Amino acid sequence: MIPEHVGFDEARRAWNLAIDQRPSAVMFPESAQDVATAVLFAREFGQQIAAQGTGHNAGPLGSPENTVLLKTERMRRVTIDPVALIARAEAGVLWLEVVEAAARHGLAALAGSSPDVGVVGYTLGGGMSFLGRKYGLAGNHVRAIELVTADGRLLRADRDSEPDLFWALRGGGNFGVVTAIELELLAITEAYAGILWYPIERDSEVLHAWRELTQGDPPDELTTVGRFLNLPPLPEIPEPVRGKSFVIVEAYHLGNPAPADQLRAPLRALGPVNDAIAAVPMPALSHTHMDPEQPVPSTGDGLMVDQLPAQTLDAFVEVAGAGAQFPLLSVELRHLGGELRRPRPEHRALASLEADYAMFAVGMVPAPELEAPVRAQVQTVKDALAPWAAMHMYLNFAETKRDPATLVPGRPTTGCDGSRGPSIRTTSFGQTTRSRRLTGNKRQRARPHERGTPAQPRSKITTKTRTLNAVVVTALNATTRTCRERLGDRRATHSSARPTRARNPAHAFPDCCIATRK
Ligand SMILES: Cc1cc2nc3c(=O)[nH]c(=O)nc-3n(C[C@H](O)[C@H](O)[C@H](O)COP(=O)(O)OP(=O)(O)OC[C@H]3O[C@@H](n4cnc5c(N)ncnc54)[C@H](O)[C@@H]3O)c2cc1C
Repeated sequence: MIPEHVGFDEARRAWNLAIDQRPSAVMFPESAQDVATAVLFAREFGQQIAAQGTGHNAGPLGSPENTVLLKTERMRRVTIDPVALIARAEAGVLWLEVVEAAARHGLAALAGSSPDVGVVGYTLGGGMSFLGRKYGLAGNHVRAIELVTADGRLLRADRDSEPDLFWALRGGGNFGVVTAIELELLAITEAYAGILWYPIERDSEVLHAWRELTQGDPPDELTTVGRFLNLPPLPEIPEPVRGKSFVIVEAYHLGNPAPADQLRAPLRALGPVNDAIAAVPMPALSHTHMDPEQPVPSTGDGLMVDQLPAQTLDAFVEVAGAGAQFPLLSVELRHLGGELRRPRPEHRALASLEADYAMFAVGMVPAPELEAPVRAQVQTVKDALAPWAAMHMYLNFAETKRDPATLVPGRPTTGCDGSRGPSIRTTSFGQTTRSRRLTGNKRQRARPHERGTPAQPRSKITTKTRTLNAVVVTALNATTRTCRERLGDRRATHSSARPTRARNPAHAFPDCCIATRK
């Protein structure tokens, strides 16, 4: 489709609705052969190619001018080989599709937190799963990659065939349009997972207890996340959590739950208002983190944190917790380490993550005017952690352009001159396909236990039929539908290149996607 076609605005739309991408054409290949035809077409007309599975990370792509956007969303076949323990996913397959197909055979994949992130984009970028501390990056569990190269050739890269290309594709940048990927599966049917919820006023004591858990040498089977959530005051959101803010600890554990329970005891002793940790089938893990399950307008960014001494956590709580000047929908610290941090000889370009924690902060941007304050608050959180930032930035959590030299840990920055350097700016397709990555309100606040804050009231939140996080997922989905309906009008104005009327963000969508805690 080209801009003159009816429906072009819908065709160019990314999963992240805040991104206004304007390619010269959008193509929807249905097969690997279609991809090859599209590549040759783009070459003939002097266009670049940008492959996009969902547009979850469309932001860093920038404005893809002189570019054919190749949306792979129609390439959705998934096949499971339960004997070889392999899943083959075409380029447009979403994670939940693999997770559910694998679960039907009693198997699991190294999926991320979101059910509708693309398998290919996630895996090429590294693939940080909640099982990663035990099994490592998803990209190191790839058996083969099928792709179309810049000259239109269809190739299959694996350890025996095109081994250098296979090495480089897994974390080294863009070397073609991937048409399908083969992933190793694991014989796991259930995990012990869920969330402990506390009022946000207990930010410091809860996150310090969580930090101690992560620094007490927990088993690789246990992954935890410390996180702030600010839920918007929309009617779709159930009353117990509507418009409220929480500090939460998520836990994901494989195997016998007893050791994990023991480690979590100090957190449980703090008296969460809701404790939803239970044995769950593997597909439930795709919803536990409560990521939005449909397109949303958002702005976010991440940072890798080398270490987390108590003062680092204090700085984080100060800007992102109860005292945040502009509460974001979600600000999280994921505990890494374990197998994620152990490079092995058989690993690929991105062998490991050289940081102990990953921070990601995100806010909803239902109106363009909210972009600046959300971006500023994300930056404030990053600035607070900057002194403890790792040298290495994880590609999948980079939603702004970064220095390519920082994206592959521990490697010389020798570029793509035939050596195995990390420069992923220069690709056969020019800068487009991965060029997105290539190309304080500090107030002194004592920790609650230091200032002798009395224990918070322990009114429990109970949900009769579902766990609280399932309620929140449903509510957030309803919220994003509302945002989307409203955004539809705004985008029509925004994308027609007419100037938008200046508005006070507070009046734009007073009850949409932003918490009004203050
Ligand atoms: C809500 C949410 C939750 C997330 N959770 C996690 C998580 O738990 N762990 C984690 O590691 N990451 C996570 N991410 C980050 C996510 O993995 C990246 O944004 C990833 O790039 C998304 O891939 P995609 O294909 O869905 O997105 P897209 O924006 O479509 O693709 C991202 C990039 O991948 C490349 N790409 C996509 N398809 C192809 C192809 N066919 N051929 C060649 N290159 C291609 C392109 O460079 C493209 O710009 C999350 C992101 C979001 C928004």
